Order: sequence, then C-alpha cells, then structure tokens
Amino acid sequence: MSYRIPPADTLAEAISEALEGRPMVVSQQKLTEMVLKKLKDKDPNYAATEERIRKLLIDRNLAKIEIHTREADDRSRHGRCPVCSSKMKRIQNETIFGGTVTLGHKCTKCPYWTGLKRRIPIRYVFYGDDFKGPSHKEA
Ligand SMILES: [Zn+2]
Repeated sequence: MSYRIPPADTLAEAISEALEGRPMVVSQQKLTEMVLKKLKDKDPNYAATEERIRKLLIDRNLAKIEIHTREADDRSRHGRCPVCSSKMKRIQNETIFGGTVTLGHKCTKCPYWTGLKRRIPIRYVFYGDDFKGPSHKEA
C-alpha cells in the first residue's frame, strides 16, 4: 500500500471538516479516525499521523485542546513541549528575597504546562467552534 502525505492546507481542511458541527471530540484517536476519513475522500492514499494532526490543529488554532496528564517521577525540563513541540518557558515566582524560583514550565503555544515534576500527556479532548461551555484555553 502506498501513502501520500497531504499538504498542510489539505490536512487543515480535513481537520476543519471533521470538526464541523461537533462541539467536542473526546480523544485524539477518535479525531484521527474522523480526519483520516475526510482525507481519504480527497485522495484514498492520503495518510497522516496523530502527531501531525495534533500539531497542525494547534498551529492553525482549528480547535481548543484540553490536555489530560499524569505526573511522572522525574523532574520537568526546559525543553520542547511534548504536545506540540513548541518552546516552553519557565513559570517563575518572585521570592521575598528578590530572587526568582522556578515552579515549572509552560508551552508558549498550547495550554500544556508542567510543575517541577514532569506531567505526561495521556489524553486529549478537542473542542470545536460549536462548543458553548467555558473556555479551556489557559492564559
Ligand atoms: Zn505545546
């Protein structure tokens, strides 16, 4: 079986189509299934990974994303976001002594954040434009 990688615009279109009229999608796996179905309507050989779909969705702001995590035993590091690969910045607090203390790290692009212990993403929920509940985007 041969695969073709859809251009970003085509994939973004498939994501929007898959989310149309749906207030929420409760897992990345479900979203991927829906997007792949739309993609294959365009070209039966088109394929995309969960990760590419998620990153493009975040990059183009096609839906709100809620990230469920579990805490790992090791410390979080100042690196790339495990959800969207963007840069993370330190969450810092000023101390009464005039210094700063690092409380964790947060992504500069998506709602992912982690405390001093690393939080591992285990599940995603996506909210489309039709979702009328509270905003899940963190400031
Ligand atoms: Zn991120």
